[in-house]
Amino acid sequence: MLIVPEARIQELMTPEAAFAAVEACFAAMARGEASNFPVVREALGKGRQYGFKSGLDRAGAVLGVKAGGYFPGNQARGMINHQSSILLFDPETGVPTALVGGNLLTALRTAAASAISIDRLARPEARVLGIVGAGHQAAFQLRAAARVRRFDRVIAWNLHPEMLPRLGAVAEELALPFEAVDLPRLREADVIITITSSPAASLMAAHVSPGSHLACMGTDTRGKQEVEPALLAAARVFTDEVAQSVSIGEAQWAVAAGLLPETAITPIGDVLIGADPGRRAPDEITLFDGTGVGLQDLAVADRVARLAREAGMGIEVEY
Ligand code: NAD
Repeated sequence: MLIVPEARIQELMTPEAAFAAVEACFAAMARGEASNFPVVREALGKGRQYGFKSGLDRAGAVLGVKAGGYFPGNQARGMINHQSSILLFDPETGVPTALVGGNLLTALRTAAASAISIDRLARPEARVLGIVGAGHQAAFQLRAAARVRRFDRVIAWNLHPEMLPRLGAVAEELALPFEAVDLPRLREADVIITITSSPAASLMAAHVSPGSHLACMGTDTRGKQEVEPALLAAARVFTDEVAQSVSIGEAQWAVAAGLLPETAITPIGDVLIGADPGRRAPDEITLFDGTGVGLQDLAVADRVARLAREAGMGIEVEY
């Protein structure tokens, strides 16, 4: 079995490779070649969440599980709040093949998912990027979004405004003017990414202009919420996986309130394989409910394991 420690991942994986791996995985799901197993997600108390995301990609011959979660006390200990590891198995024999650090990969695969949604659903002329959130994932989201549209400025809101300058520094690296704004000014944005651990909606329908694309990436657990359910009722809603969207994703609220039928939610993979046209009009609001599926983790971990073997990196252990 090959062990690829967390510290080696940045030498092996790029945002471009993550984008390609996640696109292939969403397309395989839409073709019925790959499926996610039910998610286990448990509250450990003190805001800590722990769970398992797993699946099988028959086309790519990838089987495995990501174990990990969200530990809000970590930052004070000098660690990031998200901690995870990915274990891959040979789908024919069940023999473990690789153990791969999952922290950077989670950020890259999550940013890749929202970038895929922006690439496919935002208006081509989108110029203003709005961000709600300024934690660890937000910087990855900004970098990935900037790869798929020619934004000319970034506006951002965060409940804790003292976190925004760090995000501003990333925008500056990308040569994008950055401004901290109040929520109503997000109406200036063509694309809005939400990436917070919020338990209640911050972004309201009144904060969003017609024709916008929203990538709602923070809600990945029952009980979290970033946007007003009325926004989902007014939008064309896409997701990585419908079963997760209605149970642990942003759509859990609108579906439970009877504002959005489950049947109105389209897997983004359908757009990727040409089974759905995606955006149908310039003034339509499109919304991607990115819940984070196990197959995304397996796709990027499999890519890393292959690259590590090719490069002679990682630690081979007898198991
Ligand atoms: P982080 O702890 O680094 O940052 C948390 C962010 O949420 C900060 O912007 C903070 O100001 C904001 N926030 C905290 N409490 C809030 C509240 N009550 N109301 C509004 N905002 C609040 O977290 P992170 O690593 O950046 O992750 C952000 C979210 O994304 C988490 O909920 C995490 O579980 C989720 N996530 C989703 C996926 C996915 O695939 N969809 C993947 C990774 C992380």
